[in-house]
Amino acid sequence: MRTTSVRSVAAAAVAVLLSAVLAGCSSNEFAPDSTMARLAESGAITIGIKADQPLFGELDESGAARGFDTEIARIVADELGIAEDGIAWVEAVSGERERILADGEADLVVATYTISSERKERVGFAGPYYVAGQSLLTRMDDATIASVADLAGKDVCSVQGSTGARTIRDLAPEANVVLFEDYSACVDGLGEGQVDVVTSDDVILAGYAAQRPGEFRLVGGNVTAEPYGIGVALEDDEFRMWINDVLEEAIEDGRWKAAWDSTAGAVLPEPQRPYIDRY
Ligand code: GLU
Repeated sequence: MRTTSVRSVAAAAVAVLLSAVLAGCSSNEFAPDSTMARLAESGAITIGIKADQPLFGELDESGAARGFDTEIARIVADELGIAEDGIAWVEAVSGERERILADGEADLVVATYTISSERKERVGFAGPYYVAGQSLLTRMDDATIASVADLAGKDVCSVQGSTGARTIRDLAPEANVVLFEDYSACVDGLGEGQVDVVTSDDVILAGYAAQRPGEFRLVGGNVTAEPYGIGVALEDDEFRMWINDVLEEAIEDGRWKAAWDSTAGAVLPEPQRPYIDRY
């Protein structure tokens, strides 16, 4: 009896030791020379996000980041074994996202970033992890605009390098399109009467409307589908495919839903499950 119990204690000690050793070597699960191995080894990652978009990406002066995009990014970092203090959050405005990835200024861009065939020529996309749609934001008391059909002669604000800036020119060729660097500048302009409409994705506009209750409203429904992807360097298929696996798992095991519930879910209805596009 005594021998057995000594043996089982010894076996348990070996098991504890082994799992500690394995946990310490977690970066070894990645192929050598892969981006995943490099990031896991360094314990650090740089992630481009929006800094001024409530619900999806906000970055304050202390460097703290919040929003659905940032939670999705944290899931990826966590799978690399990178803790919060290993994440450097950097602002990635719409018109800079491709350049930031091409220049290696960020390892990932998670920034309400629509997967499009044109952008796929310059960056890689994992996802989508959410599908938004382009819509319109007007002042609450403006009864003259109900849809894109009402934009002739109106001052419509959008952002440089966004899908919305291009789409609105096609859908409302008579509108006077004004392009700013970010959406909060557009929304400030709308509040002050400098522009009549802000156009962007419905969920971005809903975030601003919720932040300033009673001032604005969304009109016109959704005129496009905007599947949000995680941007990575163009040639890094291995990293892109690995992120696709991470997203798929997070969608299935409830982490994706928890990320939604703790951020955009406070204001927006629960989204349909996205389906990963492994192109
Ligand atoms: N999702 C659109 C895009 O990637 C509009 C939102 C944005 O500019 O971040 O262009």
